[in-house]
Amino acid sequence: MRVLLILSVLLGWSAVVSGAEAPSLRIGVLAFRGAEMAESEWEPTLAYLRGQLPQRHVVIVPLDLDGLTTAVKSGSLDFVITNPGHYVELEAAFGVTRIASLSGSASATTLPAMVGSAVVVRAERTDLNRLSDLRGSRLAAVSPEAFGGFRVVWRELAEIGIAPFSDTAGLQFTGFPMEAVAEAVAEGKADAGILRFCLLEQMEAEGRITPGLLRVLGGIPSHGCLSSTRLYPDWPFARLAATPEALAKQVAIALLAMPEGDGYAWTVPADYQPVHDLFRALKIGPYAYLRHPSARQLLRDYWPWLVMALLGVVWWLVHVARVEYLVRRRTAELRSAHAEARLRREEMEHGARLALLGEMASSLAHEISQPLAAIANYASGCQRRLTSHTDPEGVTEGVGLIAAQAERAAGIVKRIRAFARKRSPVPQNLDANGPLVEAVELFQTVAARHGVGVSLDLGQGLPPVLADRLRIEQVVLNLLQNAADAMSKSEPRHIAVSSSAVAEGVEIRVADTGPGLSPEARARLFEPFFTTKPDGLGLGLSLSRTMIEAQGGRLWAEDAPGGGAVFRFTLPVTTGPTEIP
Ligand code: ADP
Repeated sequence: MRVLLILSVLLGWSAVVSGAEAPSLRIGVLAFRGAEMAESEWEPTLAYLRGQLPQRHVVIVPLDLDGLTTAVKSGSLDFVITNPGHYVELEAAFGVTRIASLSGSASATTLPAMVGSAVVVRAERTDLNRLSDLRGSRLAAVSPEAFGGFRVVWRELAEIGIAPFSDTAGLQFTGFPMEAVAEAVAEGKADAGILRFCLLEQMEAEGRITPGLLRVLGGIPSHGCLSSTRLYPDWPFARLAATPEALAKQVAIALLAMPEGDGYAWTVPADYQPVHDLFRALKIGPYAYLRHPSARQLLRDYWPWLVMALLGVVWWLVHVARVEYLVRRRTAELRSAHAEARLRREEMEHGARLALLGEMASSLAHEISQPLAAIANYASGCQRRLTSHTDPEGVTEGVGLIAAQAERAAGIVKRIRAFARKRSPVPQNLDANGPLVEAVELFQTVAARHGVGVSLDLGQGLPPVLADRLRIEQVVLNLLQNAADAMSKSEPRHIAVSSSAVAEGVEIRVADTGPGLSPEARARLFEPFFTTKPDGLGLGLSLSRTMIEAQGGRLWAEDAPGGGAVFRFTLPVTTGPTEIP
């Protein structure tokens, strides 16, 4: 193509040189059938203009699409004759203006006044009848930029939903001259080819192709030719933006006055709106920007969608925020409810401990009064000895005994205080026997006053359990107190406390020699507020079961083998950390 351009420019230059003083008038023409063909085709117009403008050296410059565009851009031409599509592009890009359009002639079979396309196939291809049959076929065309040679058909295909670049089995571009397309179809290299409207008839008339070898798809007869597409206004004769007004006027007048020779005739410039429509429909050339719509266009075309998307996003945001808020509120509620329940349980446990202490109060007071009475005795003995100065060693011994008794009393008070303290449960790894011994020791006085014997059989080498010391002590004390209460009318009165390792962990048993469990008590033992005692609360066992279960253990009652009841509970050996509720 470039070679063609350089050659043409050189040709033009040589013409200028040979034309000596006469200023040149350079007309670029689109040589879609090659330079030679173009020159001969435009010769009548050229000869006529030469006659009309003797003061000018009129030169024709045949170029291909790219070459013509480059020449217009560089301003090396005065006028241009090109196809309507190319004209519309040059007009948009370089301000080229049409001054005349080709008009048809009744006698013209080779030069119609319109531009259209003929899609040709080999005559025997009965499978190809309509443009829609081109889907999946091999299609040949001269160039993707050709107007009648490609774009006119492109538009028709686009309208029936076929994208020539993707929906065909291959799009071959032969390059100019356009005859190559007809040859490719004739030789079977392509199933169909796009020719400028009337070119097939022209080629047949010139004997360049066997008549009847090719057939026009969906051929609509028009201007003596068959067309596969709608028709567009014919080629314009246009001036470049820099061409002097006077010269343009002179040429226009000459063209309009040009007699109808060999089928060429010029008329007033046609309306190229249909060509604009094609470019807009295909979003190419001056309308390529439509492929990249602006934000404003997007907004205009898609605002309902945008609004919907926006509403969707807003809804989603609100939904997320609401869910987040609800989750937080619920978590806070649960947390506070959990904390509240925990606090209430702790208070209940504490209350139950105080109640237990209350039940043991007189016994405990008695337990404390004993060392106090002993202290008083030893003190008066010492006083006596000191006054009489008789037995100084006895005084020393007496003081030692006082100290021992005071320690005993302090020990009792300490144990009561520890038990009565209000605190949250603290789970720790411990030997279950520890709290068992503590409970039994605290209970001894009560047992003594009730005439109850307590035996303690501690299992040796027990695995450590993860539990709260005070809770275990409380449960055991509760069971001891219940046992003592149950045996008030029994004889003998004995409580056997024992611990041992079992499959579940460590088991603790509190067995009594009382009357055993009545059927009603057996059924309702662990119900809150179930009591058979006149001043009982009925909370001890239900609370004990809750405390044991909270530590992963079980608490249940059975009949003791020798009569009476046995309460058993387990504490699991814990390997991992446990959350104590
Ligand atoms: P309270 O001691 O205040 O009655 P508990 O929940 O500790 O509440 O006990 C509920 C009831 O279970 C007692 O009133 C009693 O009837 C029965 N009970 C508990 N321990 C024994 C036992 N060792 N032998 C027989 N009955 C018992």
